[in-house]
Amino acid sequence: MKKIDEHGSVDKMRRCLNILIIVLTVVAGTVSTQAAVSGSASDEQIVSNAELVASGTLFEIYQHGTRVDPAFLKIMERAYEQVQKVTGLTLDTATLGPKVHVYVSNALGVSHVWKGYQHPRDPKGFIFLNSRVYRGALSGNNATYIHELTHLFTWKYRSHTLREGIADYVALTILPGAAVGPNEGEAWSLSRIPSEVLECLGTVKPIPVWVTTDPLRRSAYYFASYRFAKYLVERENFATFMKLYASDDPESDIKTLYGISREEAVKAVFAPRF
Ligand SMILES: [Zn+2]
Repeated sequence: MKKIDEHGSVDKMRRCLNILIIVLTVVAGTVSTQAAVSGSASDEQIVSNAELVASGTLFEIYQHGTRVDPAFLKIMERAYEQVQKVTGLTLDTATLGPKVHVYVSNALGVSHVWKGYQHPRDPKGFIFLNSRVYRGALSGNNATYIHELTHLFTWKYRSHTLREGIADYVALTILPGAAVGPNEGEAWSLSRIPSEVLECLGTVKPIPVWVTTDPLRRSAYYFASYRFAKYLVERENFATFMKLYASDDPESDIKTLYGISREEAVKAVFAPRF
């Protein structure tokens, strides 16, 4: 009898363990589902759930699911001055609002401005930074916050490659050698940029699907856009670049403004591949 009892209690223990495992699995499942949900929080969710940590005349800094040092306000204020200096532009506060809101969130994949690529349809002065980019901003080795701030200064865009290119150009002028967006340093050899990337540069073509689905071509697209914008700014000046940027037809206006065709400009930058 004792033996059976022993087996009985072992069985009971096994049953308990099984139940415990099932409970733990369900709990873990719930936790990971929550993580997945919070890992893809919408801009609206972040804006409504974030807490204000610092406020100045130009910025309001918010935290969402993470801790943000109020001293980050100073870093943003300095970037604002530097972007103004490099670009000669002033922020369109009439459209974007009097203060830029910066949301640092642990529930973000890619840092972006309000509504990402769709920002010009609903322009607001809101920047969303993930925790990694925020930490890089504090240590001075990630310039994505300057890239996003530049998007606000140049919010009205026609050519997406000119938009991304100039944001990287300004960010890397202010923080040379920093990581920015999907890239760190000289990510690509100029001769290896895929031709489908070169075909987009300086055009008003729709953003290719692979920019959001293929990390390798995304990286090439951003890097090539940067080098193309850098070439155009340095060949003339920032004001001339901004005339091209404001044009509804940059592909033909590049000839008027720069005296060369889009293809010639692409060739001048990426010559080794021709
Ligand atoms: Zn961007």
